[in-house]
Amino acid sequence: MSKLTTLIRYFRTPKRFKSRQKITKLQEKAVEKHIKFVRHNSPFYRKLWDGYDDSQWREFPIIEKSVMMENLQELITVDLDVAQAKKLAQKAEKSRDFSSKIGPYSIGFSSGTSGFRGMHIVSEAEQATWAGFMLARGLGSSIFKKHRIGLVLRANSNTYESIGSSRIKFLFYDLMKPIDELHKAILNDNLDMLICPPSVLSYFVDMDSKITVKRLVSAAEVLEETDRQKIESHFGLTLHQFYSSTEGEIGATCELGKLHLNEDIMVVQKEWIDEEKGWYHPIITDFRRKTQPIIRYRMNDILVSSKTPCPCGDARELIHSVMGRSDDMFHLPTLDGTTEFVVPDLIRRAIMRMSDEITDYIAVQKTTDKIEIQLKPEGLENLSMVGFQDLWDSKGIKPPVVEIIPYTHVPSTTKLRRVFREIAD
Ligand SMILES: [Zn+2]
Repeated sequence: MSKLTTLIRYFRTPKRFKSRQKITKLQEKAVEKHIKFVRHNSPFYRKLWDGYDDSQWREFPIIEKSVMMENLQELITVDLDVAQAKKLAQKAEKSRDFSSKIGPYSIGFSSGTSGFRGMHIVSEAEQATWAGFMLARGLGSSIFKKHRIGLVLRANSNTYESIGSSRIKFLFYDLMKPIDELHKAILNDNLDMLICPPSVLSYFVDMDSKITVKRLVSAAEVLEETDRQKIESHFGLTLHQFYSSTEGEIGATCELGKLHLNEDIMVVQKEWIDEEKGWYHPIITDFRRKTQPIIRYRMNDILVSSKTPCPCGDARELIHSVMGRSDDMFHLPTLDGTTEFVVPDLIRRAIMRMSDEITDYIAVQKTTDKIEIQLKPEGLENLSMVGFQDLWDSKGIKPPVVEIIPYTHVPSTTKLRRVFREIAD
């Protein structure tokens, strides 16, 4: 049954949309139907939308992760005990046995890094549909050919096993295992496609990996430009990308390797942070997720919209880049006593100006006036602080202490975030 759902979704997922009108038309119809369903089945949303017509969905109150987690029991549209689900997900994470389910529902925790973990509940049908969508966006060649697809992930889920078939085989590599062991297994398994966090791919490049695949897909972490270049040039391939979060599948790359919003499964509205620069928080309305509906949900991520359409001809909106999340921004006091927000990209640029030899870095704001920076390789000399000086000057920031400490991150179950703030708002 679920394999059939996967196939149907695969064939129904368009390779490209010719016009914006086509997308809007599809979205209108799908959202309208979905809102009716959610209002009827989710006590939380029903209460939240009191006084609004279905047609006013674009103006429905915005929700966030904390609200969603606090109200999860009322928010879901199925008869399932959230407290029990929570226990189950925690147990699965510890035992690495992800086959446990409640009825037809899989429970997962997001691999969040900022204390507040998200929980997601998906049905078998949703998983199968998702898999079909992912194959359509990711496969690059016909589903009727044989494919061996490797997934390097922090947590397995029964999604993948459920859609494996005689032609399509999914192999799962658990990041809890030593990374060199994973690498050896991937080498032996003769994969056609590898889906992997970019920090792990970058680590493979550092060890001069001889992995050969037809298609390489970055997933589970924000892909930075420096990593992309490094990975593409080592493996001699376009690095594709699934940009997703617990809340859904936000984007995927086209054949040219450009990231498009998945507007055929969700509506993405923009909450501008800086319209001129094209920075925004996406407010997503996923019209496919029924078990745990995501409607007018503000993501923490900051996206940069592209000013030009994609040459591939797909009308799905292009994302220039994913900048990170709002807790990745530094909050620094200015000389006149206010607080200035500094996006990760600016910190990244200042770090890259320290030396041409930097291959990796992590920058953490520890206090209001102290930043710690880890640099790779070890022992770099004559580091220039000009980039930082320019940054502080241009924004009137009181120069914080910048301390260089040894690089410690090893790809593992800890999600790599290169720039983030440890202090609260
Ligand atoms: Zn494109």
